[in-house]
Order: sequence, then structure tokens, then C-alpha cells
Amino acid sequence: MLKALSQQEKGKSDPNFQSLAATIRARPPMPIVFVYPGGVKQYQAECGTLCPYQPDKCPECATSGQLVKHGVYWRKPRDGEQVYWIAIHRWRCKACRHTVSALPDFLLRFRWYLLAVVSGVVVARAEQGASWGDLQAEAQGAPVVRTMQRWWQALGSQAGRWLGMIQAFLAQQDSPSPWLDPHGEAAQALSTLQALLGASGHLLAWAKSRWAALASYGWEDRLRFVWLWGSEQGLGRLV
Ligand SMILES: [Zn+2]
Repeated sequence: MLKALSQQEKGKSDPNFQSLAATIRARPPMPIVFVYPGGVKQYQAECGTLCPYQPDKCPECATSGQLVKHGVYWRKPRDGEQVYWIAIHRWRCKACRHTVSALPDFLLRFRWYLLAVVSGVVVARAEQGASWGDLQAEAQGAPVVRTMQRWWQALGSQAGRWLGMIQAFLAQQDSPSPWLDPHGEAAQALSTLQALLGASGHLLAWAKSRWAALASYGWEDRLRFVWLWGSEQGLGRLV
């Protein structure tokens, strides 16, 4: 799209073009999300200068072998115990000039808290009906209720879109999946978010049967896995 716009030389004086071009330039690069079973503490200890993941293809233009190291940026994710200080590695594509970053799968793109903390809260509320009071009492050292409610609302607003994509994917890749049985588990889900968690479990089970790298993903990692999967599908925001 950027390439197509830059070719429209005569459109450059058009104010609509200029605001659109500014929006595109301001768009932060889409990260690649990768499997990192060691978690945040190990990543902080070991991945300051060397990234454990090396992308081959540019996710923007799909060219291979054109990515060159382009420094790091720092993120300060937190859990209930402490704040971490971790490097997110970046590359620049010599073919399309986009910058690419690689996010370990325990991190969301726009949230300070680790994905496991966010996941624990929304799963407890969606599946066990935990009240905000219960969740606050259980969460040690934060997060505050207002933050947890933001996660809940953000995931709720994305759940239908992600559920639709997972179901379409299962229908294509794993058509005997019990999740697709119209009288099965899917029919019992009381909310879209419950359905998303259920479908994510089935997607994870299917993926684990194919990729040994997913051995560390358990039932409690359904959202972590679906974030990894959805990033590869280009689904954008989850929470
Ligand atoms: Zn590229």
C-alpha cells in the first residue's frame, strides 16, 4: 500500500493523501511473535544482546534474507511481583525498508502486564465467574480493578472476530474437531469469550499434535498460544 501511494506523485498535494500517508508512517511496525518457553525471567537474563529468534522472511513484503539487525527497544513488562526490563530486537528490511520486531510470546503488544497475568484474570472471570472483588483479592501486588476491567472489555470487543477466524481455520485444517460439532461443547458456551477460550483450547490441541515446539503450552496457556497463532495470521490486537 505504501508503495502504491508513493507512486501517486500527483496526489501528494492532496490533504487527504497527506493525512493518510502520515497515518501509515506513524503506524508502529507489526511484531513477529515467537515461542519462548523460558518465560520473562530467563529472557531478561539471556536476551539483552542476542535474540533467541532470527526471522528469515520479512513479514511485510515476504522477501527472504534481506533483514539486517536494527538495534533494540526496551519494554518494561510486569507481573504481580516485579517490573522487568527487557530488550525487544529489531530488524530492517533492505527490500521494503520496513522495521520488524520480534516479541516473545509472553508479552502482548499494548499491555504492561505479562500475558499470563491478563490471561489468569479473564479466564477466571469468563469460566469461573470470578467477581472483580475476588480477582483483586487474589491478585498480589496489583493489578487494580480498573486495569482488569480494561482487559476484559478489550478482549470482549475482539473475541467475536478472533473466534470467527479460529472456527474458519479449524474447519479448513481440522474438520473433525469436536469444537465444530453443532451439538457439542461450542453450543454450551455462555458467552463469546467463553467460546473463544474453548475454541482456543481445541486449536492448541490440534497444533500441539503437529509442532514439538509447542510442548510447553498447557491448558492455562490457551490465550498465549492463540496470540502467537493470531499474530502469524495477521489478526492484530487481541487484548
Ligand atoms: Zn520487507
